[in-house]
Amino acid sequence: MKIRNYIGGEFLDPLSHQWLDNYNPATGEVYSQIPDSDGLDVEMAVLAAQKAFPAWAALGEEKRSEFLMRIAKAIDDRLDTLALAESMDNGKPVWLAKVMDIPRARDNFSFFATAILHESSSTHKTGTEAINYTYKSPIGLAGCISPWNLPLYLFTWKIAPALASGNCVIAKPSEITPMTAFMLSEICAEIGLPAGVLNIVHGLGPKVGSAIVSHKDIPAISFTGGTKTGAEIARVAAPMFKKLSLELGGKNPNIIFADCDFDKMLRTTVSSSFTNQGEICLCGSRIFVERSLYDKFKTAFVEKVKAMKVGDPMDDGNKVGAIVSRQHMEKVLSYIKLAQEEGGTVLTGGTQVHPEGRCANGYFIEPTIIEGLSYTCRTNQEEIFGPVVTIMPFDSDEEALEMANSTPYGLSATIWTENLTRAHHFAHQLQSGIIWVNCWLLRDLRTPFGGMKQSGVGREGGFEALDFFTEKKNICIKL
Ligand code: NDP
Repeated sequence: MKIRNYIGGEFLDPLSHQWLDNYNPATGEVYSQIPDSDGLDVEMAVLAAQKAFPAWAALGEEKRSEFLMRIAKAIDDRLDTLALAESMDNGKPVWLAKVMDIPRARDNFSFFATAILHESSSTHKTGTEAINYTYKSPIGLAGCISPWNLPLYLFTWKIAPALASGNCVIAKPSEITPMTAFMLSEICAEIGLPAGVLNIVHGLGPKVGSAIVSHKDIPAISFTGGTKTGAEIARVAAPMFKKLSLELGGKNPNIIFADCDFDKMLRTTVSSSFTNQGEICLCGSRIFVERSLYDKFKTAFVEKVKAMKVGDPMDDGNKVGAIVSRQHMEKVLSYIKLAQEEGGTVLTGGTQVHPEGRCANGYFIEPTIIEGLSYTCRTNQEEIFGPVVTIMPFDSDEEALEMANSTPYGLSATIWTENLTRAHHFAHQLQSGIIWVNCWLLRDLRTPFGGMKQSGVGREGGFEALDFFTEKKNICIKL
């Protein structure tokens, strides 16, 4: 099967006629091909978007909202098919894609479809002399680049607000997980989204991604991915004075106090460590436990994690699916080796799994818990982005805070305590853009989403996202 670019409402081969293999990570087999596009395909997409922009921007909020709602409904109608496709491309369990990825992709469209109906702008009265009002307009063309871990979920998290605000989009999914983006283009064609409003160009980051980032007629770039790629994008885009939203890597702390609700904490910590094979930027990979609770936690946590079944993503009994690619699996395994070289002890997991049957050649790793490491070592400072967590005891609030804030990242943090004062204190002192107290991944799409330090620049979500994709003008009228 061949995936095709979606440009100007048409499904096109790459101009180069070159193709890339697309692997199913659960079997290690090639199951489709994707366009190995380049700057020329991006140029076509820009021309199509420029052509479509005036009419799309002039359409008005209500009509744009209707188109987005139609896309949301079509995603919902195909929930099972999309979930299966996401699983085949990424390796995640089908059941997870059904309850997390695809419903959220639908919600991204319906959320922004309705959000634009409630937008307003401000006015400022300057005494009796003048009145100012803020006039908002779409930026024009927006570039949206997304990673492989939550493919349709993150792709639509960018595209939906960009389209809702009246922009036309040139988007690139990760070349490792392009399938549901392709299916989204089929949905757009089917519901009659005007040609050129959304253009999806498939291919490699250094070719397609960088052509989008460096294109002079794309003034806004919304990117989610690794910190190193984010730095490269910032280097190219900054001298062009582009608007940039960068959602980057994380090394998130999970801080557990002895006074927490133990059962609730344990259940959620298993999820926050290993959901999606630990390939969620918000997973809590560094677990700090108050010393008086450490042994009890360690025993219970190891027991629960040992019981997690790893294997075929199609089997609903499996909690952990395949790692997204051979290359990424090798990276994760190399970090487990590094952790041991740094003096860590593997309490459970630590090796590749070879399931029997159709997944024998897939890329599976046991969920892994490591203890005995310093919080400053490389294993505890660098993003692994896989099913690997470390556990460390702490003796005081000050020590927990110092360890939690010690990495260059600042995406999210989780705190487990029944002490409200302590929860507020930690929430205010932690250098993370998103803090969960006694929960994890509880998302309200209206809230600002993003990281501090090397986890990113800017915020997505709610009106923050609509603001990003909008140009604001102050108009001052003398009374
Ligand atoms: P990458 O940074 O490798 O890639 C992200 C996207 O950028 C892909 O589409 C990639 O294409 C593209 N790309 C690569 N190089 C360039 C370039 N020079 N110019 C423009 N685009 C480029 O990230 P991963 O796909 O490996 O995703 C994992 C990372 O994403 C982790 O660090 C994770 O923490 C982060 N992430 C952050 C989130 C957040 O909200 N903060 C959420 C989810 C993930 P290609 O695939 O072809 O290389």
